[in-house]
Amino acid sequence: MQILRQMPKVELHAHLNGSIRETTLFDLARERNIQLSSHHFSNDLLPGVDHSMYNVRPRSLQDCFAMFAEISTVVDDLPSIRRVAQEMLEDFAAEGCVYLEIRSTPKALLLLNGSSKLATKRDYCETVLQVMKEFQKLEQDRYNIDLSNGLKEFPRLPLVCRLIISVDRSNDVMNGWENIQLAIELKKEYPDMVVGVDLGGNPLKREFSDFRACFEAARQGGLFVTLHCAEVPCSDEEKESSAYQDANAILDFVPDRLGHALLLPPILQKKLEDLRIPVEACPTSNVMTLELAERNSGGSLLEGLSRHPQLKRWLFETNHPLAISTDDPGVFHTTATKELVLLQKAYSLTNADLQKIVEQSMDYAFANQETKYFIKQRIKDRFQMIN
Ligand code: IMP
Repeated sequence: MQILRQMPKVELHAHLNGSIRETTLFDLARERNIQLSSHHFSNDLLPGVDHSMYNVRPRSLQDCFAMFAEISTVVDDLPSIRRVAQEMLEDFAAEGCVYLEIRSTPKALLLLNGSSKLATKRDYCETVLQVMKEFQKLEQDRYNIDLSNGLKEFPRLPLVCRLIISVDRSNDVMNGWENIQLAIELKKEYPDMVVGVDLGGNPLKREFSDFRACFEAARQGGLFVTLHCAEVPCSDEEKESSAYQDANAILDFVPDRLGHALLLPPILQKKLEDLRIPVEACPTSNVMTLELAERNSGGSLLEGLSRHPQLKRWLFETNHPLAISTDDPGVFHTTATKELVLLQKAYSLTNADLQKIVEQSMDYAFANQETKYFIKQRIKDRFQMIN
């Protein structure tokens, strides 16, 4: 696990508020005198259990949305979002992440703790961007010092980060337009940092076609597009169902990447594979939301992963473009390292296989060619050193 922790990693699908540390969630709730009602936050980890292999806190997709709603009651002002962003960066850096795309839905939060004045969605994004810029600079400075004093054999590589602005499909289309317009404006002001837009949120709410024009505008505005897709089941016999039509419309749009794309029926699966749209695959999240592990204490992630509907095929049969990601480390109690450990154990992968997976993720990053080349070189060099 320690060696895998040192390995460079690339994270392309991580939601900001879904990455909140549990300790921070409890701190913020205490400060605000809020009682968290979801039982999901109260389970202690089982002593003596290897939590890289076992997740003792199963969560269905609906559980996750109950948790997100609770998180937003305590992350209610700019200082708290600053803290969550800072800690997310620290946590990914500590796991050896060298490139991270954070995604988040802009919200109008309070300006200050206890103040009743609302900050704008722009304030929200600029707060996150500020934290990212400062963190990147400190990371680079720290790395330069580590290199120049030569004390460490493998100084930790600096983290490079980018922002994806999300649209939550639970909100109305006007709200989606606001986020996309903001993303287009911020792309002009922070061209190196704001790279893309995403459609997420409760998949049972609204349809991609309601938001299609927004995402066309984002594309015109020079933003990459990633869309959560096929999180609810449908079959080829149910072509009229909203789940089928939604997945089909998303594929017809040919976004730059897809989130999850787990439950496509065979005809749409073939369409995806013909189009070769890269998929952000999140093993722990998939096992949890599809309820593939036994829903009792100690439900094994490894055993759940053996029932994953697509991953094995994508990895070994179709060689589908993939980016292995965490989704919501705070909600799923995972890390970028744990995801690689899981894959390695489930499919008996070598370090060379993992290197290929990490490098491949970078191919699908929403970064410019120069950054991709540079980060891939860093990844190659570091793997060569540690192998
Ligand atoms: P935020 O956008 O930073 O507030 O991150 C949390 C939000 O991300 C949630 O409220 C959802 O809208 C979205 N999200 C996180 N995980 C998932 C998922 O697995 N499917 C769809 N949306 C998700």
